[in-house]
Amino acid sequence: MKIFTKKLELKTYLSTCKEQNKSIGLVPTMGALHRGHLSLIKKAQKKNDFVVVSIFVNPTQFDKKEDLINYPKTIDEDIQLLESVSCDVLFLPSVKEIYDDNVSSKKFDFDGLEHQMEGNFREGHFDGVGTIVKTLFEIVEPHKAYFGQKDFQQLQIIKKMVKKHRLNVKIKGCPIFREADGLAMSSRNARLTEAHRNAAPFIYKTLKKARKKFGTENANDVSEWVENQFKKQSLLELEYFTIAEEKSLETIKNKESNKKYRAFIAVFAGKIRLIDNIQLKN
Ligand code: AMP
Repeated sequence: MKIFTKKLELKTYLSTCKEQNKSIGLVPTMGALHRGHLSLIKKAQKKNDFVVVSIFVNPTQFDKKEDLINYPKTIDEDIQLLESVSCDVLFLPSVKEIYDDNVSSKKFDFDGLEHQMEGNFREGHFDGVGTIVKTLFEIVEPHKAYFGQKDFQQLQIIKKMVKKHRLNVKIKGCPIFREADGLAMSSRNARLTEAHRNAAPFIYKTLKKARKKFGTENANDVSEWVENQFKKQSLLELEYFTIAEEKSLETIKNKESNKKYRAFIAVFAGKIRLIDNIQLKN
């Protein structure tokens, strides 16, 4: 695997791949890689001649300094893992390489998607995401880019950015990869205390029950039920639970048979914030 820290060197290298008509898949990550990330890489490898993984803990998408400082960094293990799955290229830039001396986000208009859920609780988060993903697209110029449904709102926002800015890349969403007990894999899981780790599978268990309830009950009743379930959990604090339409991400008003809905949740397990979501059946 080739490792590049400079965007120009990466660009030069990739231009020879493109001259050979090779298709390039990009998997952007913030590192501390787990099997969820690997599932994206494997999907990219199946559909492209060449796969670039980026690892960059993007400072502009963190609303809390403490979260940025404490974000897990396991670069040696990450490199080993990427080697073990025969990744072609790792792009590992510094903050200066990406932002020079101006570590700030550009402002984006995602047609309101940015004002829902995560946008309400993490100020400036999606401007930061838009800024880094657009920058990575400009550097790598991938044919396809892979994002997890684990961050479903992010996935929809990136699709919107590609459409609005007419970027020449296909966005591929990948299913959520889970631990055996149902907890969605996340780099942040490594920071859970043992007690919080043991409590955390409750999140997905509750989502699955909410999905079942949504078959017969209205969204308000399901939401109220979920809120009550979390009141009984001393180790988990519910930040939000919302049932929203998949495209607009707007909270459901009345169930419509031609629309797809998803339940979204954010929970604090101690200091660690976990998010998850599940597709619902009407
Ligand atoms: P991150 O390093 O957390 O920014 O994630 C990088 C990419 O991997 C994003 O597109 C995430 O949505 C995706 N991802 C993270 N966790 C999972 C998971 N458990 N299953 C599938 N994709 C994931």
